[in-house]
Amino acid sequence: MSAQYKLQGDVAVITLDNPPVNGLGYATRVAVADGLDKAMADSAVKAVVITGGGKAFSGGADITEFGSPKAMAEPNLGSIILMIENATKPVVAALHSVAMGGGLELALACHYRIAAPGTSIALPEVKLGLMPGAGGTQRLPRVLGPETALNMIVTGEAVPSEMLAQQPGQKLFDRMAASPASLMDDALALARSVADVRPLPLVRNLPCSHPRSDAYFQFARNMVAGMAKGLPAPLKCLDAVQWAATLGFDEGRAREREAFVNLMLTPESRALRHLFFAERAASKIPDVPSDTPQRPIKSVAMIGAGTMGGGIAMNFLNTGIPVKILEMKQDALDRGIATIRKNYEAQVSKRKLKQDKYEQRMALLSTTLDYQDIKDADLVIEAVFEEMGVKQKVFEKLDEVMKPGAILASNTSTLDVNKIAAFTKRPQDVIGTHFFSPANVMKLLEVVRGAKTGKDVLATVMGLAKKIKKTAVVSGVCDGFIGNRMIEQYSRQAGFMLDEGATPQQVDKAVERFGFAMGPFRMIDMAGNDIGWAIRKRRAVEYPDMLYSRSADKLCELGRFGQKVSAGWYDYLPGKRDAIPSPLVNKMLEDHRKELGITPRNIPDEEIVQRLVFSMVNEAAHILEEGIASRASDIDIVYLTGYGFPIHRGGPMLYADEVGLFNVVQAMKRFARNPHDDAKFWQPAPLLARLAAQGKTFN
Ligand code: NAD
Repeated sequence: MSAQYKLQGDVAVITLDNPPVNGLGYATRVAVADGLDKAMADSAVKAVVITGGGKAFSGGADITEFGSPKAMAEPNLGSIILMIENATKPVVAALHSVAMGGGLELALACHYRIAAPGTSIALPEVKLGLMPGAGGTQRLPRVLGPETALNMIVTGEAVPSEMLAQQPGQKLFDRMAASPASLMDDALALARSVADVRPLPLVRNLPCSHPRSDAYFQFARNMVAGMAKGLPAPLKCLDAVQWAATLGFDEGRAREREAFVNLMLTPESRALRHLFFAERAASKIPDVPSDTPQRPIKSVAMIGAGTMGGGIAMNFLNTGIPVKILEMKQDALDRGIATIRKNYEAQVSKRKLKQDKYEQRMALLSTTLDYQDIKDADLVIEAVFEEMGVKQKVFEKLDEVMKPGAILASNTSTLDVNKIAAFTKRPQDVIGTHFFSPANVMKLLEVVRGAKTGKDVLATVMGLAKKIKKTAVVSGVCDGFIGNRMIEQYSRQAGFMLDEGATPQQVDKAVERFGFAMGPFRMIDMAGNDIGWAIRKRRAVEYPDMLYSRSADKLCELGRFGQKVSAGWYDYLPGKRDAIPSPLVNKMLEDHRKELGITPRNIPDEEIVQRLVFSMVNEAAHILEEGIASRASDIDIVYLTGYGFPIHRGGPMLYADEVGLFNVVQAMKRFARNPHDDAKFWQPAPLLARLAAQGKTFN
C-alpha cells in the first residue's frame, strides 16, 4: 500500500505514503485510484482531501521507476488526473513541504488547493531536459499567469508557497494554512465548506492570456535562447506556455504531450537524466554499506595556506565547521588569510553573502605555526607543496601528534597515497581528498581510497563531502587518479596535433564548438604551463617510453607560462583574460614542424574532437578495468563536474556510448595508423574492445 485511506467524519483523506518524497510510483498511483473509487462510491463521504505523509506532499515521478515499464503503467498520472477532474465530489489537495513535478500537476488537477507556508513549489522537469508532461505547462499559467509560470517552468526553480500566495490574482491556492501544523484541520474545514459546490471548479476551465502576447513571448524567447546553451528543453517549455496563453486547453495539452515524448528521445535529455542518476550512484561504494558508521567531524585542521589550503578551508567555514590552518611561517599564514578575506569580501560586495555571515565564518577560522595546536582536530587535510619529501615530513609529524582516530587526508593531485599512508603507523586513517581549483567553487572532489583506507574513514569523508556540497567520486590510487590520468592523454593528443599542422586556436575552437567551456590550450594557459612542464619532467623519468610533442616544452623554455605572465599559447593584455592568437607561437610551431620534417596538414574539426575525447575514453576503459573507478558513470561525473565537459553530452563515457563503441574502436584503429601519433596508445583497451565486439555500452 503506498497511500493510506481514512475517513475523518464525512471527508475521505488519501495520504500518499511512498518515502522519502512520496514519488508517484505505480503502487502509489493504484492506491490513489482505489481511494478515489472508494470515496466516490461511499454515500457518507462528502469530499476528499489528498495529502502526503512524512516529509513531502509529493516530489513527483518515482525516480526508481524511471525508464521501466512501471513508470507509464496504468493508472498513469494522466489517468489519475482525469479521475480527479471527473470526480463527482470535491477533491482538495493539501500541500506541505514539497510539491514538485508530477506532485504539483496532480494538485493542479484537484478542485481546490490549500498549502502550508514553506512549501517548495516547482516544475523541475527542464533540469532533466524534459518538460512537465501531465498538464503542468497548461494549468500552471492558468493559475499564476503566463509570466510567473514561464519563469518557473523554464528554470525549474522552486518558489516558496507564501511568495506565490502573495501574487495578486493568483488562483494556485484557494487558501493558505495558518501553519504546517494546522494544515490538516484547515484542509478538512475547506473540504466541508465546499462539499455542496456544483459545478466543481477546474483549472483547465480558467482563461489564460497575456495582454501583449506577441511582444512578451518574443522577448522571452530571446532571453531563453541565450540561456539554453544548445539544450532544446527550455525553448520547448516556453512554447508550451505560449500554447497555454494562445490556444484552448485541449489543444495545448495535446501539443504538450507530443513535445514531452519528443524531448524524452533527445540525446540532451538522455545526458541530463544520466547525470542525475550518475550523481546519486557516485555516493554509493560497492563494498561500503550505506549504514557504515561515520566518525564525527566537528573540527578541521589544514596544513598549508596556499591556493588550495585557503579554498578548502572555506568549504568547512561555510558549513559552520571550525578550521585551524597551520603553516611554516607567519607571512604565509597572513597571505592565506588575506586571500580568504578577499574572496568573502567579493561575495559580500556582490550581495551573495551577508556581512554578519561573513563575520561568523571568519570567527571560525584560526591559525597556528605549532602542530600541538591542531592535535585534537577530527580531520586534518594536507595541502603543502607537491613533493613527496615535503609530504613525508608532514605525515610523520601528523602521525606523532594527532589524536587517535583523527582522519589524515592529503590533497595531492598526483602522488601515491599508499606511500603517503606508509609514512604513518595508521594507514587505515589516511585518505586522499583531491579538491579542484578554485576549491571553494569547484563541485568535484575525488576521494582517493588507499589500499588500507578504513571503510569508516571512506564513509565519513563521503558524508562530509555531501555536507560541504561537493560531488564526491571515489578513485583508487594511480598516477593522476581518474581525472588527471585521462586529461594527460587529452593533452598529449593536443600536442601531437600541433606537430601535425593545427594551431592552438583551431584545436580550441573545435573543442569549444563541441561544447567544452574552454579548449586545451586556453585551459592550460589559465592553469599555468609550468605545472604541466614539471609533470612532464617527472614523467619522463618514470615513463621513459611515453611519447610527447616537444612543443609545450619549447613554449615553457620561452618563459611563456600562461595568463599569469601575459604570454602562453596565446598573448594576453596585462590583467585581461582574452586569448589573442600569437604570431610568435605560430612561428615557433612552424619551425618545430620543419625540424621534425613534418609537412603540415589540415586536420578536420571532427578528427580533432574525436582524438581528444576518444583518447580519454580509451584511458578511462583502462581505469575501469583496473578498478580505479567503480563505474563508468563515476568517470562521467568527474568530467562533468570538474573538467567542463559539455553537460548535454553526458560525459565522455556516455558520449562514446552514443557514438557507438564499435565506431569508437574503428576511429582508434585509424588514429593508430597516423605516423605522428602514438600507435601503441591507440590499441583499444581490453574492456573497450570486448564491449564493442559484443555490441554493448559502458553505461
Ligand atoms: P601552494 O604553493 O599555493 O601552497 C602550498 C602551501 O604550503 C604554501 O603556502 C607553503 O608555505 C605551505 N607549505 C609548504 N610546506 C609546508 C610544510 N611543511 N608545513 C606547512 N606548510 C607548508 O600550492 P597549492 O596549489 O595550494 O597546492 C597544494 C597541494 O594541492 C599540492 O599537493 C597540489 O598538487 C595540490 N593541488 C593543487 C591544485 C591547484 O590547482 N593548485 C589542484 C588540486 C590539488
